[in-house]
Amino acid sequence: MTDFDYIIVGGGSAGCVLAGRLSEDPGTRVCLLEAGPRDTSPFIKAPLGLGATVPSKHLNWAFKTVPQAGLNGRCGYQPRGKVLGGSSAINAMIYIRGHPWDYDHWAKLGNPGWSFADVLPYFKMSQNQERGADDCHGTGGPLNVADLRSPNPLAQAFVDAGLEMQLPRNDDFNGPEQEGVGSYQVTQINGERCSAARAYLAPALQRDNLKIWTGVQATKIILNGKRAMGVAYHRDGQAHEVHATREVVLSAGALQTPQLLLLSGVGPVATLRKHGITVSHELPGVGQNLQDHIDIVIPYLSPSSLAMGLTPGGIAKLTKGIFEWRRSRSGIITSNSTETGGFVKSHPDLAVPDLQLHFNTAIVDDHARKRHFARGYCAHVCVLRPKSRGSISLNSVDPMDAPLIDPNFLAEQADLDSLVAGFKLTRRILEAPALAPYRGRELLTANVRSDKEIIADIRDRADTIYHPVGTAKMGNDDMAVVDSELRVHGMVGLRVADASIMPTLIGGNTNAPTIMIAEKAAEMIAVV
Ligand SMILES: Cc1cc2nc3c(=O)[nH]c(=O)nc-3n(C[C@H](O)[C@H](O)[C@H](O)COP(=O)(O)OP(=O)(O)OC[C@H]3O[C@@H](n4cnc5c(N)ncnc54)[C@H](O)[C@@H]3O)c2cc1C
Repeated sequence: MTDFDYIIVGGGSAGCVLAGRLSEDPGTRVCLLEAGPRDTSPFIKAPLGLGATVPSKHLNWAFKTVPQAGLNGRCGYQPRGKVLGGSSAINAMIYIRGHPWDYDHWAKLGNPGWSFADVLPYFKMSQNQERGADDCHGTGGPLNVADLRSPNPLAQAFVDAGLEMQLPRNDDFNGPEQEGVGSYQVTQINGERCSAARAYLAPALQRDNLKIWTGVQATKIILNGKRAMGVAYHRDGQAHEVHATREVVLSAGALQTPQLLLLSGVGPVATLRKHGITVSHELPGVGQNLQDHIDIVIPYLSPSSLAMGLTPGGIAKLTKGIFEWRRSRSGIITSNSTETGGFVKSHPDLAVPDLQLHFNTAIVDDHARKRHFARGYCAHVCVLRPKSRGSISLNSVDPMDAPLIDPNFLAEQADLDSLVAGFKLTRRILEAPALAPYRGRELLTANVRSDKEIIADIRDRADTIYHPVGTAKMGNDDMAVVDSELRVHGMVGLRVADASIMPTLIGGNTNAPTIMIAEKAAEMIAVV
């Protein structure tokens, strides 16, 4: 059995940060285990490559949920990166931190050190903001944050349409105000995706004290009583073990970190007994508290050649774009497809925005799994702080099996009400004059007008916008899994550092917050 000081399970957004930061000390031996392959695919480097990875099984676990009562019994889709970089290798690259309110709320829930003032330095140290440093932004960090190189005027028309609807303009959603419509900044560098692997691992690859093992799936945490001793894993169908002298850190993401805890006998007793797993440590909150952004998309057909699509003209443009990208790292291939959007309030009296908009320069229907041979665009709207709570459990004790994922979408009436309000607001923007030159007909929703029809459409089509969190939540109540230093309650040598630890879902996209969590975790681990 091989020995390391730290074993990190999962080479995603958080795992890459931890491996990169902890191995900065040459005296520390770090091993990163990742189930997927190295991140050499051109579909990662080329930003628009997400159009190939998100709807497919390429570099993607492509999980599905259990049937959702709130979604007419449909099974939802849960893409997750299965490659070095994890979901940051297939995501839409939007750089958003959430609202300061979210972190102040975490602190109020009993998590000292996690208020916005506390976490802002970690956001800043992770970042290289190409616009330069200021009170809100940092430079010199590994994660490059850029404006899109070749913004599509169609996406800008969505911003203009929002302004016509009296929404404020916002040129920096991570600045002093979150509310408004504008362009998203992206985690890109020189027209290429800047995944967490690109940002944090690429500079560390030559370090002798860092081992990165890909194609390695952790199957269990090796425990001696309450102490984590190492990790059991499968490589090419063979079982192996690796030993940690200091700590095991779980960074397998909000869907698989709780799965691994359960497989190791750490979790709710009833679940463990049901699967015949010996209870190593009772922790009722493992896998509970799943929160995700429920989203509905309104696609339009478009006569404009600025709209992307599977038409002869669209394919020719894409082909030309590939040559341009290869030549100069500019053009359509640098698009993240979801170029603009905003944060809005469903009621003017709300203290913080409760809805997020994502405008996409192509048709998205069923996560782009349903193809339309036509040009178009769409706008998404999602509920930023849903009240519904779901769970992660086990389908079986086979670690190669997918976890049982139940987001319990729209279990709470308030979430449905917010999404209906969001649907109407989004449609008003899409009907504004600024989009008139681009507008064809509504592809799926032309006959959806009354509240009853909108609710039926939501139940028929709504699904995640890919931000599951909270399944190993931080806190000090009975359902908390980790403390505010991310140590698993009641255990020794075991931490969780990834999107699972968020006690509540933040109001925005979750990559930058996960990277912040890992930056903070690395510092806490290193000073022990
Ligand atoms: C399609 C999509 C679009 C998104 N768009 C955006 C966006 O534009 N902006 C944004 O901020 N956020 C976005 N997100 C969300 C964001 O990317 C995630 O919240 C973030 O990457 C989560 O980081 P993580 O470290 O918790 O998990 P992940 O990055 O998912 O990492 C988990 C890693 O663990 C590995 N793993 C799992 N189980 C095991 C095991 N047993 N053994 C070994 N390895 C294992 C996985 O293969 C994976 O590499 C998007 C996500 C998706 C899927």
